Amino acid sequence: MRQILALAAVLAVAPLGAQQAAFHVSNYDLTLDLPETGKTIEGRAELTVVRTARADTLVLDLLDLAVKRVWLVGKPAGFTQDDAHVRVFVGGVRADTLRVALEYAGAVTDGLIVGTDGAGRWMAFGDNWPNRARHWIPSIDHPRDKATVTWSVRAPSDRKVVANGTLLEETTIPLAPDPDGSFGRGVQRTLTRWRESHPIPVYLMTIAAAPLVRYDLGKSACGFARDGGCVSQMVYVAPEQRPSMPGDFRYAGDIVDFFSHLVAPFPYEKLAHLQSSTRFGGMENASAIFYADGGFRKGGTNASTIAHETAHQWFGDAVTEREWSHLWLSEGFATYFEELWTRHAFGDSAFQREMAGTRVELLRDPVVAARPVIDSTQTELMQLLDANSYQKGGWTLHMLRSLVGDSAFFRGIRDYYAAHLDGNASTDDLMAAVEGRAGMKLGWFFDQWLRRPGYASLTTNWKYDAASHRVVLEVEQGPRFAAYRFPLLIDVTDASGVVHRVRVEIGAERSTRVTIPLALAAAPRSLAFDPAVELLAEFHLR
Ligand SMILES: [Zn+2]
Repeated sequence: MRQILALAAVLAVAPLGAQQAAFHVSNYDLTLDLPETGKTIEGRAELTVVRTARADTLVLDLLDLAVKRVWLVGKPAGFTQDDAHVRVFVGGVRADTLRVALEYAGAVTDGLIVGTDGAGRWMAFGDNWPNRARHWIPSIDHPRDKATVTWSVRAPSDRKVVANGTLLEETTIPLAPDPDGSFGRGVQRTLTRWRESHPIPVYLMTIAAAPLVRYDLGKSACGFARDGGCVSQMVYVAPEQRPSMPGDFRYAGDIVDFFSHLVAPFPYEKLAHLQSSTRFGGMENASAIFYADGGFRKGGTNASTIAHETAHQWFGDAVTEREWSHLWLSEGFATYFEELWTRHAFGDSAFQREMAGTRVELLRDPVVAARPVIDSTQTELMQLLDANSYQKGGWTLHMLRSLVGDSAFFRGIRDYYAAHLDGNASTDDLMAAVEGRAGMKLGWFFDQWLRRPGYASLTTNWKYDAASHRVVLEVEQGPRFAAYRFPLLIDVTDASGVVHRVRVEIGAERSTRVTIPLALAAAPRSLAFDPAVELLAEFHLR
């Protein structure tokens, strides 16, 4: 997800209750009838539910909409509904895999955002992050519970329906006769069906139903789609925006190509980019990225947002954080892989400029100074969308790459991805994968950068020792945060103007004195610290 436009809603963490933890939904078949105007929808949800522990009551999240009927393994079943949950008694069924169907209806207030576009046309867009799917999908609404999904949406034929996965059908529904027996006065409706055959969390399940037109971006990453073929991409835009296509979507092919080669084949069936009414700048719905309408209308969505949301298809979508407190595994990865694409497309100096820019933001962000990245005490999910999850998470990956080197870093990331594809992961899973390739223990690194607040605050002082022809460096770490351990790159400019790049190890001590491993005939002109922008630190010179 990309920068929040409005932080109006405050949503509390809904922990997965013990009863819910006893069940796992493996598939959703969701059928929706959408209106021509207004917000009232009718739905039928057929869930394949796996019982993973002893439990008699299936508890599903559902807000606002009223359940009319429930079927359990094909038979009408009793249920209760309160303002947050639907409870279905399943104690009478012995099998551990159950089919549960719910028929429900009502006016949607959130999750499925229904309104009109700038031209007054009715439209609807799903916008579920973090826990708003439960406003319109009876579900186990937690990132840990991933499932496949089939969408069957009946909507007026002048609205294009786009959803996750592969398009199965788009069929015009025969008009029912009017009461006088004549045809042709009703609104023509179309049934559109999409199928996502890889498990995704409920917060990424989405539909769009809006007056959109398709702009084809062609195929890329050939041989690097999940089935070995190519990845098809397209943009769905409001008709009046079509002349401005492709804009920065001209980079979309290269972006998918780059990540597919760097990480793993593209995880889904296609990749659609949609002009939408998401409250976020961009939202990484699996295989159907939604971008804010405003971005399209003000000169087009930019390449870095496209790269960010596309990187999420691997990180966040295909491999999902097991708990919200590990959100950096989604946002930090998308932030850093967006920067890696910038480096690939625009070069190392553009990349370093971006990293230096995000470091400036980090160093002055009060959240970074006050709270750790893995923040299990934060119960307001929207508050997790901060500089810790994004920029500091991205910077942690950057420092990890500098520490272990490109080869171990990317092999470790690929191992991590392969081990958790279509599933969930925690920070320790990532650490174990990189440790396996780097051949070193990394607990100290993950602890200092992710489990405590702050950044390195360094005061440096050096002097040239003529007797030994060496420079002696002192590094003091200020009292604001605990001391950090890190490698420090230094560019030493000697008396004749030649630059020597050296690396020294700084320990997690308040004060470190180190001799720079470089023989110099005379005092150097200058020392430049961290010239490659690899350390999350502020430097003070003494
Ligand atoms: Zn993001």
